[in-house]
Amino acid sequence: MYADIIIDITHEKLDKVFQYRIPSHLEGMLKVGTEVVVPFGRGNKETKGYVTAFSDQTDYDEAKIKPVLRVAEGSMQIEAKLVALAAWMKERYGGTMIQALKTVLPIKREERKLKKRRVRLLLKEEEGKALLEVYLHKNQKARARLLAALLDQHEQDYETLIKNLNISRSVVRALEEQNVVAMVSEQIFRNPIRQEKKQVVPVVFTKEQTDAVERFWQEYRQGIQTTYLLYGVTGSGKTEVYMEMIARVLAQGKQAIVLIPEIALTYQTVMRFYSRFGNRVSILNSRMSQGERYDQMERVKAGEVDVMIGPRSALFTPFSNLGLIVIDEEHETTYKSEQVPRFHARETAWERARNEGASLVLGSATPSLEAFSACERGECQLLKLTQRTGTAKLPSVYVADMREELKRGNRSILSDHLRELMEDRLNRKEQVILFLNRRGYAGFISCRSCGYVVKCPHCDVSLSSHRGGRLVCHYCGYEEPMIQNCPSCGSHFIGGFRAGTQQIEELVKRQFPQAGVLRMDMDTTRNKDGHEKILETFENGGADILIGTQMIVKGHDFPNVTLVGILAADLSLYSDDYRSAERTFQLLTQAAGRAGRGKREGEVVIQTYSPEHYSIEKAAAQDYEGFYQEEMNYRELMGYPPAEHLMAVLMMGAEEEHLALAAKYLKEYTLRIDREQKLQVIGPASPYVGKVNDVYRKVLYLKCETIDPLIDAKNKMEKYIEINRGFQSIRIQFDLDPMNI
Ligand code: ADP
Ligand code: ZN
Ligand code: ZN
Repeated sequence: MYADIIIDITHEKLDKVFQYRIPSHLEGMLKVGTEVVVPFGRGNKETKGYVTAFSDQTDYDEAKIKPVLRVAEGSMQIEAKLVALAAWMKERYGGTMIQALKTVLPIKREERKLKKRRVRLLLKEEEGKALLEVYLHKNQKARARLLAALLDQHEQDYETLIKNLNISRSVVRALEEQNVVAMVSEQIFRNPIRQEKKQVVPVVFTKEQTDAVERFWQEYRQGIQTTYLLYGVTGSGKTEVYMEMIARVLAQGKQAIVLIPEIALTYQTVMRFYSRFGNRVSILNSRMSQGERYDQMERVKAGEVDVMIGPRSALFTPFSNLGLIVIDEEHETTYKSEQVPRFHARETAWERARNEGASLVLGSATPSLEAFSACERGECQLLKLTQRTGTAKLPSVYVADMREELKRGNRSILSDHLRELMEDRLNRKEQVILFLNRRGYAGFISCRSCGYVVKCPHCDVSLSSHRGGRLVCHYCGYEEPMIQNCPSCGSHFIGGFRAGTQQIEELVKRQFPQAGVLRMDMDTTRNKDGHEKILETFENGGADILIGTQMIVKGHDFPNVTLVGILAADLSLYSDDYRSAERTFQLLTQAAGRAGRGKREGEVVIQTYSPEHYSIEKAAAQDYEGFYQEEMNYRELMGYPPAEHLMAVLMMGAEEEHLALAAKYLKEYTLRIDREQKLQVIGPASPYVGKVNDVYRKVLYLKCETIDPLIDAKNKMEKYIEINRGFQSIRIQFDLDPMNI
């Protein structure tokens, strides 16, 4: 018997399986996904690797084939199904198999196990009582106290006993040596959920909610596992629908995974699930320690957990009997990984669900064009929630044209209408959210005389000015002091072009000195739980106005917010990215959705310099389907995803000229292999960020109506690069349907 092994070294040339012999002492101990130690290379250096397959013959010389040495110590077994998923990811998204395997293995190593020790009495009642007499007689008070306590209750927690009886550890040890007591230990799992179970308030489902659940359930019960898009306006009760679907799937003995964007994974959200499913729920998030994360995997393997909630990586929870995957806010860009393999969690969940006979439910108030077009093609079923629950109504929206404000002489960041409404809400003791799609103090620095923009010397992106008078690069961290004069023309009219959250905070505090103001952006939420604390303070009425970036638009429910102001709504329209209109529409709709979720009706003011743009018009009208049609027309016209597929081939090298030449050759090669002329090859171009940490970057774009020719081209390019010496110093990454171009 032989095992195929993927060696744990990330190098394109080693990205293939190596065959090893399974020695008799390891027979039956290896599975697909087991981490093993093998001799590798000329020096037979002990190297780790993963088993991906078995075979009973070899093409090599029987005598020369090396043996597997042992199972790697402290390793985590990868489920065989997840090894298959990793292979699919590697094929679709590029990168090496070892990178894909590490992606589906959320915890790499065993961590320290937490043990709880208990003291157990070994004597029978009479023997114990007799011994107690002896201790009392000899005036051994500590021993007597311990024995008396154990006669009362035969097994007790070690630490608690010592503390309550005020005895030293040596007393327990002494009794242990005399075989009076025994120490027993059990593993306990760190539980990341603060346990204060709230009362579950059962909701009476609306007709739309009932219909959604029933349609899902009728098919599920018949063994039809498929994909659904739950398109429900903000506050329409999607989470309740997910929970009901999950409850029914669990009742069948199956398990569920719920993906939530990291930022929306708040205490409030987790508690809703916890209140309903109790200890059967676990979470994963990036703020948890490795030990906490490890314990969650152990709980899963021990069958203690049926529902795993988490961001992207929770998709790889090793459930053995998966019934349902839910992806909340499925349109979120964070579902696309920025690390190789650059997988999309929606597509990968689709594949996992299909392989394991599970259903997939995507949910959003602003579905991605990918999900909605899949419904139009019949690959996904549409479930709609058009109404908010209870008495809450969708807010009314007012569009403030900032060009008109300027004409009237209003140079403030706030339009007159928004300022008036804010005054009104403060008088009525209601809350206000001001939303700005921007971080930092003042955005980029430019010269108003000549147009010069201050950029990072390493990364070719504009620097942002931060409080404390420094200019900072958000890609590599480069800093320099604020400049007073334009390096290009010498003018002193150089400075921040647009307002950031800090600037707005200052302005609002000046204009409304009586109001309590909170600010939430990357800078105020850097600490663990910083994000959570600000939201909780605001929810509990600790401030009147919350100012923030896109972080505030999801997760929490604020029933007392009746006004949302969206400042510079069109800011996200200025990026040169084919998804910018979609992003703008989503942000505006989600931000507006924060208003009026309680009993009182909400109002939204959208401030913009381009009120006629369809993404703003349709967001103001809360018309998703209208937006979808316009945007899809544009994607079809331009051949952008999801109308067509796009593969970015990112090339990186230290020498600019050599890189340019390599990019040219790779393009020519690609055109040559494309005999049927299915591909459109664009570039090579300098990407938006042309240079990072002194490494130059070039990008080629391949476009095609279907995915397969792109994957085929990728595979051929990988081979071409591997055998051509000219590419030795160049690194290449593939990105299928990239999120940022
Ligand atoms: P979404 O996820 O669509 O934004 P949620 O599930 O968070 O909506 O629901 C919004 C609020 O409405 C929550 O406080 C939820 O408890 C409540 N809710 C949901 N369904 C109902 C219902 N049928 N009746 C009353 N309240 C409901
Ligand atoms: Zn200048
Ligand atoms: Zn930089």
